[in-house]
Amino acid sequence: RYGITMFAISALDIALWDLAGKVKGVPLHQLIGGAKRSTIPAYASLMRIGNPAQIAAECKKAIKLGYAAIKLHETTVPAVSAAREAIGPGVPLMVDMNCPLDGPAAIQFARDCKQAAPMFLEEPVWPPEDFATLAEVRREGRLDIAAGENACTVHQFRQMMTAGAVSHAQPSVIKVGGVTEFLRVAVLADEFGVQVIPHSPYFGPGFLATLHLMAIRDAGLIEVFFMKRPACLWGERIAVDAHGHVAVPQGPGLGYEPDRDVMEKYRVA
Ligand SMILES: [Mg+2]
Repeated sequence: RYGITMFAISALDIALWDLAGKVKGVPLHQLIGGAKRSTIPAYASLMRIGNPAQIAAECKKAIKLGYAAIKLHETTVPAVSAAREAIGPGVPLMVDMNCPLDGPAAIQFARDCKQAAPMFLEEPVWPPEDFATLAEVRREGRLDIAAGENACTVHQFRQMMTAGAVSHAQPSVIKVGGVTEFLRVAVLADEFGVQVIPHSPYFGPGFLATLHLMAIRDAGLIEVFFMKRPACLWGERIAVDAHGHVAVPQGPGLGYEPDRDVMEKYRVA
Protein backbone atom coordinates (compact mmCIF):
# COMPACT_ATOMS: atom_id res chain seq x y z
CA ARG A 1 0.00 0.00 0.00
CA TYR A 2 3.02 2.28 0.04
CA GLY A 3 6.24 3.02 -1.78
CA ILE A 4 7.67 1.99 -5.11
CA THR A 5 4.90 -0.54 -5.84
CA MET A 6 2.23 2.15 -5.51
CA PHE A 7 4.30 4.50 -7.68
CA ALA A 8 4.42 1.81 -10.40
CA ILE A 9 0.68 1.18 -10.06
CA SER A 10 0.15 4.95 -10.33
CA ALA A 11 2.00 5.05 -13.65
CA LEU A 12 -0.02 2.13 -15.03
CA ASP A 13 -3.27 3.68 -13.85
CA ILE A 14 -2.46 7.01 -15.56
CA ALA A 15 -1.51 5.15 -18.76
CA LEU A 16 -4.77 3.16 -18.72
CA TRP A 17 -6.88 6.31 -18.25
CA ASP A 18 -4.94 7.86 -21.16
CA LEU A 19 -5.77 4.82 -23.31
CA ALA A 20 -9.42 4.88 -22.25
CA GLY A 21 -9.68 8.51 -23.34
CA LYS A 22 -8.01 7.72 -26.65
CA VAL A 23 -10.33 4.77 -27.32
CA LYS A 24 -13.37 7.00 -26.75
CA GLY A 25 -11.80 10.00 -28.45
CA VAL A 26 -12.34 12.29 -25.45
CA PRO A 27 -10.05 14.11 -23.01
CA LEU A 28 -9.48 12.53 -19.59
CA HIS A 29 -11.43 15.27 -17.81
CA GLN A 30 -14.55 14.24 -19.72
CA LEU A 31 -14.21 10.65 -18.45
CA ILE A 32 -13.91 11.71 -14.81
CA GLY A 33 -16.77 14.16 -14.44
CA GLY A 34 -16.36 16.94 -16.99
CA ALA A 35 -14.28 20.09 -16.90
CA LYS A 36 -15.48 23.10 -14.94
CA ARG A 37 -12.40 25.10 -15.92
CA SER A 38 -10.36 25.40 -19.13
CA THR A 39 -7.31 26.87 -17.39
CA ILE A 40 -5.91 26.25 -13.91
CA PRO A 41 -4.22 28.97 -11.86
CA ALA A 42 -0.63 27.99 -11.10
CA TYR A 43 1.59 28.72 -8.17
CA ALA A 44 5.33 29.13 -8.56
CA SER A 45 7.04 26.41 -6.54
CA LEU A 46 10.51 27.80 -5.87
CA MET A 47 13.67 25.76 -5.39
CA ARG A 48 15.28 25.75 -1.95
CA ILE A 49 17.40 28.91 -2.00
CA GLY A 50 18.29 29.80 1.59
CA ASN A 51 19.54 33.35 1.09
CA PRO A 52 16.74 35.85 1.91
CA ALA A 53 17.82 38.43 -0.70
CA GLN A 54 17.87 35.79 -3.44
CA ILE A 55 14.50 34.46 -2.28
CA ALA A 56 13.04 37.96 -2.57
CA ALA A 57 14.48 38.32 -6.09
CA GLU A 58 13.01 34.98 -7.22
CA CYS A 59 9.61 35.88 -5.75
CA LYS A 60 9.57 39.17 -7.65
CA LYS A 61 10.57 37.39 -10.85
CA ALA A 62 7.67 34.94 -10.47
CA ILE A 63 5.12 37.69 -9.82
CA LYS A 64 6.39 39.58 -12.87
CA LEU A 65 5.82 36.46 -14.99
CA GLY A 66 2.16 36.37 -13.97
CA TYR A 67 2.08 33.93 -11.06
CA ALA A 68 -0.55 34.88 -8.49
CA ALA A 69 0.81 32.66 -5.70
CA ILE A 70 4.20 31.48 -4.46
CA LYS A 71 5.50 28.49 -2.55
CA LEU A 72 8.86 28.46 -0.82
CA HIS A 73 10.97 25.46 0.09
CA GLU A 74 12.56 27.09 3.12
CA THR A 75 12.97 26.37 6.82
CA THR A 76 13.92 29.72 8.39
CA VAL A 77 11.84 32.68 9.53
CA PRO A 78 14.04 35.28 7.72
CA ALA A 79 13.47 33.40 4.46
CA VAL A 80 9.70 33.49 4.90
CA SER A 81 9.70 37.15 5.95
CA ALA A 82 11.85 38.14 2.95
CA ALA A 83 9.38 36.49 0.58
CA ARG A 84 6.38 38.17 2.16
CA GLU A 85 8.09 41.54 2.02
CA ALA A 86 8.93 41.01 -1.66
CA ILE A 87 5.43 40.06 -2.81
CA GLY A 88 3.32 42.28 -0.56
CA PRO A 89 0.37 41.36 1.63
CA GLY A 90 -2.16 40.22 -1.00
CA VAL A 91 -0.33 37.31 -2.64
CA PRO A 92 -0.81 33.79 -1.21
CA LEU A 93 2.49 32.50 0.19
CA MET A 94 2.98 28.82 1.02
CA VAL A 95 5.91 27.41 2.99
CA ASP A 96 7.05 23.85 2.24
CA MET A 97 9.51 22.58 4.86
CA ASN A 98 10.01 18.95 3.71
CA CYS A 99 9.79 17.39 7.19
CA PRO A 100 12.76 18.79 9.16
CA LEU A 101 11.31 19.36 12.66
CA ASP A 102 9.86 17.69 15.74
CA GLY A 103 6.53 18.82 17.14
CA PRO A 104 7.66 21.54 19.58
CA ALA A 105 10.06 23.10 17.04
CA ALA A 106 7.34 23.08 14.37
CA ILE A 107 4.86 24.78 16.71
CA GLN A 108 7.45 27.44 17.48
CA PHE A 109 8.22 27.93 13.78
CA ALA A 110 4.51 28.30 12.97
CA ARG A 111 4.13 30.98 15.64
CA ASP A 112 7.28 32.79 14.53
CA CYS A 113 6.03 32.84 10.90
CA LYS A 114 2.60 34.14 11.73
CA GLN A 115 3.45 37.74 10.83
CA ALA A 116 4.29 36.68 7.27
CA ALA A 117 0.78 35.16 7.06
CA PRO A 118 1.58 31.91 5.24
CA MET A 119 -1.42 30.28 3.55
CA PHE A 120 -0.12 27.04 5.07
CA LEU A 121 2.95 25.24 6.38
CA GLU A 122 3.67 22.10 4.38
CA GLU A 123 5.14 18.98 5.99
CA PRO A 124 6.79 20.69 8.98
CA VAL A 125 7.42 17.47 10.94
CA TRP A 126 9.36 14.23 10.61
CA PRO A 127 8.24 11.59 9.90
CA PRO A 128 5.60 12.76 7.40
CA GLU A 129 3.09 10.11 8.52
CA ASP A 130 3.12 11.25 12.17
CA PHE A 131 -0.40 12.65 11.82
CA ALA A 132 -0.95 13.07 15.58
CA THR A 133 2.00 15.46 15.84
CA LEU A 134 0.96 17.24 12.64
CA ALA A 135 -2.51 17.77 14.15
CA GLU A 136 -0.91 19.17 17.29
CA VAL A 137 1.20 21.60 15.24
CA ARG A 138 -1.92 22.70 13.38
CA ARG A 139 -3.78 23.23 16.67
CA GLU A 140 -1.02 24.81 18.74
CA GLY A 141 0.82 26.63 15.94
CA ARG A 142 -2.48 28.14 14.75
CA LEU A 143 -1.57 27.94 11.07
CA ASP A 144 -3.10 25.86 8.30
CA ILE A 145 -1.18 22.68 7.51
CA ALA A 146 -0.68 20.90 4.17
CA ALA A 147 0.61 17.38 3.55
CA GLY A 148 0.08 14.44 1.25
CA GLU A 149 2.94 14.06 -1.20
CA ASN A 150 4.31 11.25 0.96
CA ALA A 151 0.97 9.51 1.40
CA CYS A 152 -0.27 6.62 -0.74
CA THR A 153 -3.88 5.50 -1.23
CA VAL A 154 -7.09 6.91 0.16
CA HIS A 155 -6.60 4.82 3.32
CA GLN A 156 -3.62 6.88 4.47
CA PHE A 157 -5.40 10.12 3.58
CA ARG A 158 -8.32 8.97 5.70
CA GLN A 159 -5.97 8.50 8.67
CA MET A 160 -4.50 11.95 8.01
CA MET A 161 -7.88 13.67 7.83
CA THR A 162 -9.42 11.70 10.72
CA ALA A 163 -6.52 12.88 12.88
CA GLY A 164 -7.31 16.48 11.91
CA ALA A 165 -3.74 16.81 10.63
CA VAL A 166 -4.38 18.96 7.55
CA SER A 167 -6.42 21.82 6.18
CA HIS A 168 -5.00 21.16 2.70
CA ALA A 169 -4.50 17.67 1.21
CA GLN A 170 -1.80 17.23 -1.40
CA PRO A 171 -2.27 13.96 -3.27
CA SER A 172 0.41 13.31 -5.87
CA VAL A 173 -1.08 11.49 -8.87
CA ILE A 174 2.17 9.65 -9.66
CA LYS A 175 2.50 8.32 -6.10
CA VAL A 176 -0.94 8.08 -4.52
CA GLY A 177 -2.20 5.34 -6.86
CA GLY A 178 -2.88 7.25 -10.07
CA VAL A 179 -6.01 9.01 -11.33
CA THR A 180 -8.31 6.41 -9.73
CA GLU A 181 -6.94 6.87 -6.24
CA PHE A 182 -6.58 10.67 -6.57
CA LEU A 183 -10.32 10.84 -7.31
CA ARG A 184 -11.05 8.86 -4.13
CA VAL A 185 -8.87 11.23 -2.10
CA ALA A 186 -10.71 14.22 -3.59
CA VAL A 187 -14.11 12.76 -2.59
CA LEU A 188 -12.80 12.15 0.92
CA ALA A 189 -11.36 15.68 1.17
CA ASP A 190 -14.72 17.15 0.19
CA GLU A 191 -16.41 15.05 2.89
CA PHE A 192 -13.95 16.35 5.49
CA GLY A 193 -14.02 19.95 4.23
CA VAL A 194 -10.31 19.74 3.45
CA GLN A 195 -8.99 21.66 0.43
CA VAL A 196 -7.23 19.80 -2.39
CA ILE A 197 -3.99 21.36 -3.59
CA PRO A 198 -2.10 18.62 -5.41
CA HIS A 199 1.61 17.91 -5.39
CA SER A 200 2.70 18.27 -9.03
CA PRO A 201 6.23 19.62 -9.56
CA TYR A 202 6.40 17.33 -12.58
CA PHE A 203 7.20 17.48 -16.27
CA GLY A 204 5.72 14.27 -17.66
CA PRO A 205 2.30 12.59 -17.87
CA GLY A 206 1.74 13.19 -14.14
CA PHE A 207 1.55 16.93 -14.75
CA LEU A 208 -0.99 16.50 -17.56
CA ALA A 209 -3.08 14.13 -15.43
CA THR A 210 -3.08 16.68 -12.60
CA LEU A 211 -4.38 19.38 -14.95
CA HIS A 212 -7.35 17.14 -15.82
CA LEU A 213 -7.95 16.27 -12.18
CA MET A 214 -8.03 19.95 -11.24
CA ALA A 215 -10.18 20.89 -14.26
CA ILE A 216 -13.14 18.98 -12.79
CA ARG A 217 -12.91 20.90 -9.50
CA ASP A 218 -14.36 24.37 -8.90
CA ALA A 219 -11.21 25.76 -7.33
CA GLY A 220 -7.61 24.95 -6.51
CA LEU A 221 -4.14 25.75 -7.75
CA ILE A 222 -1.66 23.62 -9.64
CA GLU A 223 1.97 23.41 -8.55
CA VAL A 224 4.51 24.44 -11.22
CA PHE A 225 8.23 24.08 -10.57
CA PHE A 226 9.76 27.55 -10.98
CA MET A 227 12.77 26.79 -13.15
CA LYS A 228 14.10 27.10 -16.64
CA ARG A 229 13.85 23.84 -18.59
CA PRO A 230 16.23 23.07 -21.42
CA ALA A 231 13.44 21.06 -23.10
CA CYS A 232 9.82 20.05 -22.59
CA LEU A 233 7.99 16.91 -23.73
CA TRP A 234 4.89 18.98 -24.51
CA GLY A 235 6.49 22.00 -26.18
CA GLU A 236 5.08 25.29 -24.91
CA ARG A 237 1.64 23.84 -24.21
CA ILE A 238 2.11 23.52 -20.44
CA ALA A 239 3.75 26.94 -20.12
CA VAL A 240 2.19 29.38 -17.66
CA ASP A 241 0.38 32.23 -19.46
CA ALA A 242 0.65 35.94 -18.67
CA HIS A 243 -2.17 35.58 -16.11
CA GLY A 244 -0.41 32.74 -14.28
CA HIS A 245 -2.65 29.99 -15.65
CA VAL A 246 -1.95 26.69 -17.42
CA ALA A 247 -4.35 25.49 -20.14
CA VAL A 248 -6.18 22.20 -19.61
CA PRO A 249 -5.37 19.77 -22.47
CA GLN A 250 -8.36 19.14 -24.75
CA GLY A 251 -7.06 16.28 -26.92
CA PRO A 252 -8.01 12.61 -26.32
CA GLY A 253 -6.71 10.94 -23.15
CA LEU A 254 -4.07 13.03 -21.43
CA GLY A 255 -4.39 15.40 -24.36
CA TYR A 256 -0.88 15.80 -25.72
CA GLU A 257 1.64 13.49 -27.36
CA PRO A 258 5.22 13.66 -26.08
CA ASP A 259 7.83 15.16 -28.40
CA ARG A 260 9.78 12.14 -29.69
CA ASP A 261 12.82 14.28 -30.53
CA VAL A 262 13.06 15.42 -26.90
CA MET A 263 12.71 11.82 -25.72
CA GLU A 264 15.46 10.73 -28.11
CA LYS A 265 17.77 13.58 -27.11
CA TYR A 266 17.54 12.74 -23.40
CA ARG A 267 17.31 8.96 -23.73
CA VAL A 268 19.40 7.04 -21.20
CA ALA A 269 21.39 4.46 -23.15
MG1 LIG B 1 6.24 19.42 -0.75
